[in-house]
Amino acid sequence: MKPWDPPEERLYGVVDDLLDDWQASYHPAFQGVRVIGHQWSPHSTEIRDFLGRNFVPHQWLNVETEEDAKQVLKTTGVDCSSLPIVVFPDGSFLSKPPAAEIAHKLGLKTKAEFPFYDLVVVGAGPSGLAAAVYGAADGLHTLLIEREAPGGQAGRSSRIENYLGFPMGLSGNDLARRAVAQARRFGVEILTPQEVCGVRVEGPSRVLKLSDGGEVGCRALLIASGIAFRKLEVPGLDRLSGAGVYYYAPMSEAFSYRDGNIYIVGGANSAGQAAMYFSKFARQVTMLVRGGSLSESMSQYLEDQIAATKNIEVRLNSSVIAVEGAERCETITIQNNKTCSTEMVSASALLIYAGAVPRTDWLAGVVERDAQGYVISGQHLMLEGKRPTGWTADRDPFYLETSVPGIFVAGDVRHRSAKGVTSGVGEGAMAVKLVHQYLGLL
Ligand SMILES: Cc1cc2nc3c(=O)[nH]c(=O)nc-3n(C[C@H](O)[C@H](O)[C@H](O)COP(=O)(O)OP(=O)(O)OC[C@H]3O[C@@H](n4cnc5c(N)ncnc54)[C@H](O)[C@@H]3O)c2cc1C
Repeated sequence: MKPWDPPEERLYGVVDDLLDDWQASYHPAFQGVRVIGHQWSPHSTEIRDFLGRNFVPHQWLNVETEEDAKQVLKTTGVDCSSLPIVVFPDGSFLSKPPAAEIAHKLGLKTKAEFPFYDLVVVGAGPSGLAAAVYGAADGLHTLLIEREAPGGQAGRSSRIENYLGFPMGLSGNDLARRAVAQARRFGVEILTPQEVCGVRVEGPSRVLKLSDGGEVGCRALLIASGIAFRKLEVPGLDRLSGAGVYYYAPMSEAFSYRDGNIYIVGGANSAGQAAMYFSKFARQVTMLVRGGSLSESMSQYLEDQIAATKNIEVRLNSSVIAVEGAERCETITIQNNKTCSTEMVSASALLIYAGAVPRTDWLAGVVERDAQGYVISGQHLMLEGKRPTGWTADRDPFYLETSVPGIFVAGDVRHRSAKGVTSGVGEGAMAVKLVHQYLGLL
C-alpha cells in the first residue's frame, strides 16, 4: 500500500494545488525585445506598432509606471532624454531608433537576394500577399516588397467578419501572419521594411528603385500598394498625433484606454470595427459621423452590432474641429454640421478613420493614373477603342494590366476596384494568371 493510493484522492489533488501555487508565483523574466518609453510619446507608439505589425514579440514598459522600466534604465545607464529605447535579448539597445535601424538589428530582410525576379509585387496587403502566394505556388520566382509591415490596411482591422471561411471572423494581423507563413512556404522572398520609390522600363525588364538606393529588376511587376489614410486638417491634431490621437489606431492602444472616453471619427466599416473593439475596454465610445446616417457607408451587420452595444453612441452630422491638450489629447471640439453649434468635451483619445487615398507619386510619368492617383488598367485605358499612348504590345491591355505591358495592378490602388479584402485577394490571384499570359507571349 503506497501513501498516495488511491491517487485520484491523495495524489492528483495535492499535485494540482502545488502546481497552482507555483504558477501563481512564477514570473519568468521576459526574454524578448523590450520597448521602454513614455506613455504619450508618439515615437514609442510608432515603435510598438512597427514591432507588432511585423510579428516581433515584445514587451512594452511605461517608464512612468513600471518598476522594471526604471531597472532597465539603471542597467543600461540611459537617462529619460534618450527614450524611447529598444532593448534586445542580447542586452544591447538602440535609443530613439528609426524603424529601419530596428529592422536591421532584428535581422528583418530588407535587401533582395537576387538582382532579377520573374515577378516583383509592391505592397504586402491582402492583394499583394495573395499575388505572391499564387505566383510562387505557380512556379514564378517572386519578390514581395513592403514599406511598413505585411497586412496593409487589413492589418489594422480588429476583426474581419466578411472574409470567406472564417465564420467567427479573424483579426487582420492574424490573416497577415497566416498569409506570410504561406508565402514563405512557397518560397516568396519578402523585404520589409523597404519602399519602392521609382520604376523604369528597360526593354523587356521592369526595374524598381528602392529607398535605400538599391535596384531590382523583374519580368513582370504587380502594383498592389493600396491606399493610405487621409490626414485631417484640424487645429491641434498634428501636434498630438501619437499622443492620444491616432490614425487607424494600433489595437494594442486599447489597453491604455481602459475606462476611458474615446471618440472615433468616421462612419465606414473600419470606424465601426474600431468602435466595437474599443468599446470592450473603454467606458464610453462616441462615433462622430459627418453624414446623416451610418447606412450610407457601413455594412448592415456592423451597424446592427453598434446599435446593440450600450456604451457606443453615434453622433450624426458631426465633425471634430479642434483638439487640445498639453502633452496628450485632453479635449476635442465637436461641430454639429446642421446647426453649426459647437461643444467642447473631454476625450481620452481621438481615433481617426476618415478615408484613405492612393500614394502613387513614384509611378508618375510611367503608368496612367486618374485624377486621384488610382492606377488605370484594362478596358478603362481604352479611349474610343484606342490603346493608351506609348502602348507597345500588339494586343489590348489585359484586364489588370496598366498602360505599360507587363506592369499589372491589383486591389485598392486600382482605378474603380471594388475595394475590400476579398476583392483584393481575388484580384491578386487573377493578376498572376494574367502575368502568366503576358510571359507566355514574350
Ligand atoms: C481598420 C480597417 C478595417 C477594415 N476592415 C475590413 C473588413 O472587415 N472587410 C474588408 O473587406 N475590408 C476591410 N478593410 C479594407 C481592407 O483592409 C482593404 O480593402 C484591403 O486591405 C486592401 O488591400 P490592398 O492589398 O489592395 O491594399 P493595402 O491593404 O492598402 O496594402 C497595401 C500595402 O502596400 C504597401 N505600400 C504602399 N506603397 C508602397 C511602396 N511604394 N513600396 C512598398 N510598399 C508599399 C503599404 O504599406 C501596404 O502595406 C478595412 C480597412 C481598415 C483600415
